Amino acid sequence: QNQRIRTQVSDQIVNDDGFVLEDVPHLTNFLPDLPSYPNPLQKSQAYAIVKKTFVSSEDAVAQNIVVQKDTPRGVHFRRAGPREKVYFKSDEVRACIVTCGGLCPGINTVIREIVCGLNYMYGVDNILGIEGGYKGFYSRNTTTLTPKVVNDIHKRGGTFLCTSRGGHDTNKIVDNIQDRGINQVYIIGGDGTQRGAALIYKEVEKRGLPIAVAGIPKTIDNDIAVIDKSFGFDTAVEEAQRAINAAHVEAESVENGVGIVKLMGRYSGFIAMFATLASRDVDCCLIPESPFYLEGRGGLFDFIEQRLKENGHMIIVVAEGAGQEYVAQNMPGVDEKDASGNRLLHDIGLWLTQKIKDHFSKVRKMTINMKYIDPTYMIRAIPSNASDNIYCTLLAQSAVHGAMAGYTGFTVGPVNSRHAYIPIARVTEATNTVKLTDRMWARLLASTNQPSFLNCSDVSQKDNTGAINSMNTNSI
Ligand code: ATP
Ligand code: MG
Repeated sequence: QNQRIRTQVSDQIVNDDGFVLEDVPHLTNFLPDLPSYPNPLQKSQAYAIVKKTFVSSEDAVAQNIVVQKDTPRGVHFRRAGPREKVYFKSDEVRACIVTCGGLCPGINTVIREIVCGLNYMYGVDNILGIEGGYKGFYSRNTTTLTPKVVNDIHKRGGTFLCTSRGGHDTNKIVDNIQDRGINQVYIIGGDGTQRGAALIYKEVEKRGLPIAVAGIPKTIDNDIAVIDKSFGFDTAVEEAQRAINAAHVEAESVENGVGIVKLMGRYSGFIAMFATLASRDVDCCLIPESPFYLEGRGGLFDFIEQRLKENGHMIIVVAEGAGQEYVAQNMPGVDEKDASGNRLLHDIGLWLTQKIKDHFSKVRKMTINMKYIDPTYMIRAIPSNASDNIYCTLLAQSAVHGAMAGYTGFTVGPVNSRHAYIPIARVTEATNTVKLTDRMWARLLASTNQPSFLNCSDVSQKDNTGAINSMNTNSI
C-alpha cells in the first residue's frame, strides 16, 4: 500500500519497499487559511460550456514524461488552472504588476492578459502598474491598469510599465506593498527577477501577510529550468531569420563573402541553435555550451576556407556567450557588471570578425568580404508573434487563477506541455542549457555539416551546467 509522506520540501508517495513513486513540491505555498469563496467563473459565460471547469488541487503534472522501469516517477507539480474555491473576494483584490530585467517580445501581452484576466474572469478592477522595475515600488508613483488602458499594448514591443536592473530592496518593496494594501503581486522577469520574487515571497511569509506572489518567467534565451519554453523565444527565432537572410544576401553577392550574425544567448545557445536549424543558410553555429577553436585542422579557419572554396560564401551564427574565454584573454582585467550584478559579456561578434579578417589577410593572403550583423536590440524590441501571443495569454491566465486560488511563491509555465504551478526555487536553482549529448545538437551538426570541434585533444567539453571548463586555448 502506498503511503504519503510529508518532507520538508514536498509530499512524497512511497510504496511498500520505500520506493518514491511521486514527489510533489508543497502546495506551492498556500496563503494562511484555505480558499473559501466560490469561484466567480462558475457563473461565467466563457466557462459555461467547458466540460471540466475546475482543476483539482490534487491534479499533478510530471516533470519527467518518460519514466523508466524501476525508477521513481519523480517530481510533479500542481496543475495550473481555475480552482473551485478561491481565496480572495473579487472586490477585495488589490493587484499589482511589475516588469524587471531586459526586454523580450510578449511582455506587454502578459501585462494585458493579467489585467483582462483579473477583470473579465474574476471581476477585479483594482490593479496597479509598478513602473520601472523593482525600484519603482519605492521610488515612483503607480499607474492604474484597466482593460481599456492596456487594450492595445500587445501590439507594441518593450514593456508598457518600463523596466530596470538593480534596486531590489526586499524590505522597502514589502513595506510598500503593505502600505498600498496590495494583496496580489505579479512579477514578470528573468532569473534575477525570479530570485527577487522568491525573497519578496519569503518576507511576506515572515510577516504573515495574506499576499499572493506570482512570478511569470521571462527570458528570451529560453534558459529557465523546468519549463518547456519561455515566451518571446519563438518570436526571437523568427526575427533572427531576417538578420540571417540579410547576411546571406550580402555574403552571396560578393566574392568570398563571410557573414557573421550575433544572436542572444548568454549562457545557453537555444536561439542560435533554433535559428540555425530554421534557416538552412547557416554554415556554422557557435554556442556557449560547445567550445570551438580557430586554428589547426578541424578549426574554424579551415572550415571557412573550405566553404568559401565550395560555395563562394559562408554564414556564421554566434551566440553572444560563445567563446567568452578567448575574448577575455585579449582583455585581461576587463570584468564589468551591470546594475543587477550580472557579468557584462565581451563582444564575441566583433572579436571573431577581426580574428577572421586578420587570419585571411595576413596568414592566408586571401581577400574576403566580411559583413557583421548584430540584431540583438531589434529582435528584443519587437512585439510577440502569434504563437507567443497565445502562449503569453495562457501564462497570464494561469498566474491569475493561481493567485486567486491562494497559491503564492510560484511561477507558471508549461511542463511537458501542461501548464503548472512551480515553486520559484525550482526554476532558479538551475539554468537550462543546450545539451550537446542530446539529439537536437546532433541534428544541427548534421544539418550544417560543420565541425563539432570535439576532435581537438586540447578541448574538454563544457559540462553543460554553464561552468567554464578547463580549456587549453593555446591553439587560438
Ligand atoms: P534578463 O537576464 O532576462 O534580462 P533578469 O530578471 O535576470 O532578466 P536582472 O537584471 O538580472 O534581469 O534582474 C532584474 C531585477 O531582479 C533587478 O531589479 C535586480 O535587482 C533583481 N535581482 C537580480 N538578482 C537578484 C537576486 N539574486 N536577489 C534579489 N534580486 C535580484
Ligand atoms: Mg538574467
